[in-house]
This record gives sequence, C-alpha cells and structure tokens, in this order.
Amino acid sequence: MPEVYNWQLGRKMDYPYGESHPEWQFAFVFNINRCIACQTCTMACKSTWTFSKGQEFMWWNNVETKPFGGYPQHWDVKILKLLAQEHEREGASMTWNTAEKGGSQRPYGTYEGMTIFEAAKRRYGPEGHQRALGYIPMDEEWRYPNISEDTASGQKGVPGRWAGDYASKLPEHKTWFFYLQRLCNHCTYPACLAACPRKAIYKRKEDGVVLIDQSRCRGYRKCVEACPYKKPMYRGTTRVSEKCIACYPRLEGKDPHIAPDGAPVETRCMAACVGKIRLQGLARMDKESGGWMEDRKNPLYYLVKVEKVALPLYPQFGTQPNGYYIPPRWAPRAYLRQMFGPGVDEAIEKYTFPSRELLAVLQLFRAQQKIVFRYEIEPGPKVFETKINGRKWEMYNDVVIGFDKNGKEVARLSVEEPKYVRPQKYYNSI
Ligand code: SF4
Ligand code: SF4
Repeated sequence: MPEVYNWQLGRKMDYPYGESHPEWQFAFVFNINRCIACQTCTMACKSTWTFSKGQEFMWWNNVETKPFGGYPQHWDVKILKLLAQEHEREGASMTWNTAEKGGSQRPYGTYEGMTIFEAAKRRYGPEGHQRALGYIPMDEEWRYPNISEDTASGQKGVPGRWAGDYASKLPEHKTWFFYLQRLCNHCTYPACLAACPRKAIYKRKEDGVVLIDQSRCRGYRKCVEACPYKKPMYRGTTRVSEKCIACYPRLEGKDPHIAPDGAPVETRCMAACVGKIRLQGLARMDKESGGWMEDRKNPLYYLVKVEKVALPLYPQFGTQPNGYYIPPRWAPRAYLRQMFGPGVDEAIEKYTFPSRELLAVLQLFRAQQKIVFRYEIEPGPKVFETKINGRKWEMYNDVVIGFDKNGKEVARLSVEEPKYVRPQKYYNSI
C-alpha cells in the first residue's frame, strides 16, 4: 500500500492511493461553545438537498448531543471499539507521543497507534481485506438525527434543588453534555473513496470536495461501511449512495443573487447558522504534502495552524478530516482528548484567555455569506479589564475586516457589539 503524509498524525501512514491533492480544500471551523442545537443548519441542508422520496432518514448535516447521542446511533463508540479490538489483538495502543510536537507538519505530536486503514489489513472477507476498518449501521440506527437530546452525563442533583457546587464550576462540569455539529469532512484521505470498488467516488481538483458519481455507483455501500464518520448514506429508492456535496455550486460562485460577481459563497448549513458558530472557507493546499500552504491572514489558517484553537474530529482515524472544532470548555478533558486529540488542553487555554487577534477573528463567524479569504485588524481602544483564572486580561474594541476571493471588503465588525438605544417615545418604539 502506498504511504502518504498525514500532518494531523505527524507521520506517514498507509493509504490505498498515493499523494494527489487539490488546489484549494473545502474546510470549516465550528465553535462548539456557542451552538444552541437549534438545528437551523440541519433544516437548511434538508430543505435544499434531501427532501425527496427515499431520503426521509437522510441528514447530511446533523447536530447531536454528546456523550449519548449519535447519528447513526453510537457511530463513534462502535468504530472506536473496532479500532481498540484491533490494537488489543496486536498488543498495540492508541497513544500519542507529544514529546516532539511543533511546526505545521506535527502540531499535535505523533500518533503511535493504527489508523482505520492500517488496522483493516488483517480483516479479511470474501473480497480480500477491508480497505478501511468499518461496519454498516443497522436501518434503525439511522432513525434520529439527535437522539438523547440534552441528556447529561455525570452526577445528578437533589430533585428540586440547584445542583450548585458540583454541576457548574469550570474548568470541568461534573454534569455535562455538549452539541456536536456534523457533516462530511471532505477528508484529505477519504475512507469512502478508498473503499469504493467502482471508483465512483472522487475528490475535486479545484476545491477538494468529495463526491459520489451517481452513474458509476452500484449501491454496494462500501463507502457507508468505510467512512468512520458515517456520512455517506444509501438511498433505497435509487439504490445508490449519496452524501454531502458541500453545496458546490455556491463554492464555485454561481449564486447570482448573493454573489453576482462570482465570489465563492458559504454552504447552506454554514450560512444559516443562528448561533454564529460556523466559519467555512477554502484553504490553499500544498499539492506535494497534502498540508496547507502558509496563508497567515486566512481566518481558517489562523485558527487551525497559528492559534491551534480548532482541532480535527477523531484525527486518529487517519482520514485527515477538514472539519475543525473549538472544543467545549466544560466537558471532561479525557473525553475531549479522545475526540479531538492531544491539542485539547492548549486549545481550551487559548479560547479561555483569548489573544487580541483571536477575539477579533472570532467575530468573523457567520458575518457574511461570502467566504472570507483574508482578514485585517484595525486596532481600537481598551474597553474592559478583568481577571481570568487569576491572570489579568484586557479587551480592546478592535475592528476586524473580512475580504472575499476578489479582495473586496465583505465584513466589518467591532469586538464590542454596537448598541442602539431606543428612544423612549413609546414602550414598543424601535
Ligand atoms: S467524512 Fe466520510 S464521507 Fe466524507 S470524505 Fe471523509 S470518509 Fe468520505
Ligand atoms: S444553526 Fe448553528 S447554532 Fe443552530 S444547531 Fe446548527 S450549528 Fe448549532
């Protein structure tokens, strides 16, 4: 099997195909700390792409409640269990070596365990070994996009009494849950693509979007089996598989209403986000290494590579997913490290005590439908001072300006939200 470099793992890994990378890569950052699980994103996607016969249980975008929820049910627990079993069989462990981390090629250290591609080599079926470790969920596991909604884990309070002390004290709440927003990660090394015996799945050269060619697909569901995130879905009425297409006409700048000048536009789920937790864009790729080219003033590059406040979802699977998450501050660290890798503590520290630049860039989330390719910051006056965890922290009312692909200004926001005081003429004056 050829070897490819996975920077999220800090090492080379086995993958069925050699290095071949697009010019740009579709990517996104979600700030879990702000999501309210309103499912506006979920419905924006559903009403655009999956409203037809045979797609009733298909949710390309869903928001689930962790730790108990999942769509399909227990998707992550099941693949983690399969991976753990393979490690046990080999006498290996899914550990990270963080002694020599650093730089953009090994930011979180080195993953010393096996990926789903490496672990699959010993699992033989009638057609040879699996391309990627996986399983096909049962029909009933696809029933609910947010089962166990708002169900917390941990200690319960005395009925009728505020749980007080042990429930809500940072850094970690003892009673906790959080929302996990999910869609296809348009992975750099997609497991769905690796597993397809028909070569019906491909990654677009222009933006790294992973698509299923409906005319080549024969519905074998190898992609459903192999994707560790379970984001390709089988449609019984057409007998082929389908998945998120990253609203690619919008990425191509073909929305005549929002961008008559042809500037790339965010996907429907991103543009609809009420909680302003989503920032989506395109990262310029290094075509040799599969990493991102240095692009210091691109908000995605800054959040993922410079500030390292946003982390990949289950990097140990090995697909190099292009969805990144700012982890929730209140959930147990061990749980978060399993989900987002060893960068969790640094990311939470940075988010808890944000730098001037980070605070300004965070304002860009959902500021515009057009994709922001570059930002600038105009310094403003100091407006606030406090102590966070005993350390002095100052807030400045800086202004962040976002530019689209054509270099046109598309967003201008101050750190302090502008206030409008209604005249006291009538009680309901606006
Ligand atoms: S998340 Fe799954 S479906 Fe999407 S590109 Fe990665 S492996 Fe394929
Ligand atoms: S629209 Fe935004 S805030 Fe609402 S559920 Fe989706 S990601 Fe969360």
